[in-house]
Amino acid sequence: MILREGSTDMRAAVAALEPRLPLPLRALARLACNYWWSWAPGAEEFLASFDPVRWERAGGNVVHLLEELEPWRLDELAADAGVVTRVDALAAEFDAEMARPHSEGSSDHPVAFMCAEFGVHRSLPFYAGGLGVLAGDFLKESSDQGLPVVGVGLFYAEGSFHQRLDITGLQHEYWLATDSDCVPAALVTGEDGLPLMVSVPVRGSDVVVQIWRVDVGRVPLYLLDSNRPENAPVDRWITDRLYVGDRYMRLAQYALLGIGGIRALAAMGIEPSLIHLNDGHGALATLELLGSEIAHGVPVDRARDNVRALAVFTTHTPVLAGNESFSREELQRELPKLDAVARLSWDELLALGRIHPGDPRERFGLTPLALRLSGAANGVSRLHGQVSREMWRELWPSLPVSAIPIEHITNGVHLPSWMDAGMQALLDKYVPGWRVAGPDSPVWEAVDSIPDQELWRVRCTLRARLAEVVRARSVPERLSRGESLAYAESAARAWRDDLLTIGFARRIATYKRLYLITREPERSVRLLTSDRPVQMVIAGRAHPQDEEAKRTVQALFAVNDIPGVSSRVVFLENHDLGLSRELVRGCDLWINLPRATQEASGTSGMKSAANGGLQLSVRDGWWDEACDGSNGWGITSNPSLSIEEQDRLDTDAFFSLLENEIVPLFYVRDSDGIPRGWVRRMKASLRTIIPQYSARRMVQDYVRRRAAVRPY
Ligand SMILES: *Cc1c(COP(=O)(O)O)cnc(C)c1O
Repeated sequence: MILREGSTDMRAAVAALEPRLPLPLRALARLACNYWWSWAPGAEEFLASFDPVRWERAGGNVVHLLEELEPWRLDELAADAGVVTRVDALAAEFDAEMARPHSEGSSDHPVAFMCAEFGVHRSLPFYAGGLGVLAGDFLKESSDQGLPVVGVGLFYAEGSFHQRLDITGLQHEYWLATDSDCVPAALVTGEDGLPLMVSVPVRGSDVVVQIWRVDVGRVPLYLLDSNRPENAPVDRWITDRLYVGDRYMRLAQYALLGIGGIRALAAMGIEPSLIHLNDGHGALATLELLGSEIAHGVPVDRARDNVRALAVFTTHTPVLAGNESFSREELQRELPKLDAVARLSWDELLALGRIHPGDPRERFGLTPLALRLSGAANGVSRLHGQVSREMWRELWPSLPVSAIPIEHITNGVHLPSWMDAGMQALLDKYVPGWRVAGPDSPVWEAVDSIPDQELWRVRCTLRARLAEVVRARSVPERLSRGESLAYAESAARAWRDDLLTIGFARRIATYKRLYLITREPERSVRLLTSDRPVQMVIAGRAHPQDEEAKRTVQALFAVNDIPGVSSRVVFLENHDLGLSRELVRGCDLWINLPRATQEASGTSGMKSAANGGLQLSVRDGWWDEACDGSNGWGITSNPSLSIEEQDRLDTDAFFSLLENEIVPLFYVRDSDGIPRGWVRRMKASLRTIIPQYSARRMVQDYVRRRAAVRPY
């Protein structure tokens, strides 16, 4: 069978870029059209050096940069032997990487990894937070490991919003058009040279979608796009924004992702060996799969088993309300042909999405559907596995909780993307073999042999680099909010390279409890203004409809006029992959204060730990299993208390640890100026966290689990 999976279209995109480039730099076109460069060591700094100002304006998008560079500058670069040698070396490395055979399985039957958001790079704002970043890391790691994987998601005309705060700290959102001419994406075409399209029935129409291909190393990511002239304006808008506020528009997105995703794979001639539903947004895929089995004459019961043999599901949402559901009326109105898609009666279909199939009043939930029609399901940390088994136990009324078939595979982060090059070099020098060593390998013991001086030097460099970012960003952000000049400059003036630097950056959702930080203002002020002060950087975006979360940011701003606060606490706007990377690298101490059992895993702390940051976090999600007393600090929260009691006790524990242990440990120095106790904790953290909470370990766990479910 001839595959129409977009590789020729991608080559055409490369060929279209090449004529812009002088001959010695032609290979840059190939590099620009694959996000592999974003985690190749040193590549980003090299590419940015072509024109740092334009690089920033292009949002780190290499295609955009190359299109913007003026001919004289390109000629200048082409005449620079050092640049040409570097381009050739990168291209050779890239070509070798692409040519490497797959490590297992067959590229004819890849795993299709389906998700509503993918955080691949800041120039492609198709992610809201941790879920999308994890999905991006999953693809990158699969590429590194040579696993045959394809990603399936949506191509958003605008994607996720950008954030501005006003002078009261209130968040305002704006959206920017995704310039499809500038992102490294190619429209997949069919044999006739026209865009390949599939259609999905939504409301009264057959919505057509085209398919973009984005290359993430060796992994193609296919993104469905309803912005086609054939569609009515409202249908063209379905893939406009990530997680739009309107529930019915979101349901249409889920139909395009799930049903359209499976149809797109078929249209491209890709026969996946496995469909990995990453969170429930793509769960309608199971109905499309079921319908095509039944259409081939397979009896319903067997068809269900066949779908289960093909689908696996990862749940990320430990709060019932976060698992979306729809009433019969809503479903029949918005997706009136869903019964025809699944080739089931409405009663049969609705039963598949209920916890109690026979209860006609129960709504149709995407998570129960995914759980029921997947051969394996997992949560994303040990604790989240337990919480999920409790939460969904009634789906298996005859089983005891411990036997509910929801396991856990704890999340991990893609180290080459998140770990600073200096830190990687340090491990290369003192911990040989660390890049491929499994969590049980003795290799990791060598972390203790890293000289304290060298480790501390890297830490200080990273902290100083973040200080530059804070100075550069805080002033214009504050000025554009309309703050006074003195206020706008106060943090840039007071920020120091050598103070204990604390970070809190993630989606602003109420359960993440950013508000605990302002609960005891006197204690905060004492920490900020003592003779051994701390400085704190905060970032995060709230969902546009989440008024409560937005108010927690405003509460921060309300204490800003207390002397000392505005100069030592900085909120940086528009938390994205770029800012996130600066923060997790630069902070000494990383804070996470979720309401216990509501953080499925959390991943930003893993990124921080990989750069020598220490954790001060509620023992929830990943930290519940990672915290061993030597590698950071844990706050044991009690979810059975009232929310007010939990908040009060956890705030007290948070401040007490800072006051009594953390700040003193950071500032106690020996005659060489090194905080030996702090460095000892850093080493314990690097040694225990990097191996276990890397995407390498996570992806291998998924491969092992898959082998147990269904051989390749
Ligand atoms: C890693 C990351 C997150 C996830 O943060 P947690 O709250 O720790 O899960 C969110 N947003 C961005 C931009 C990230 O890079």
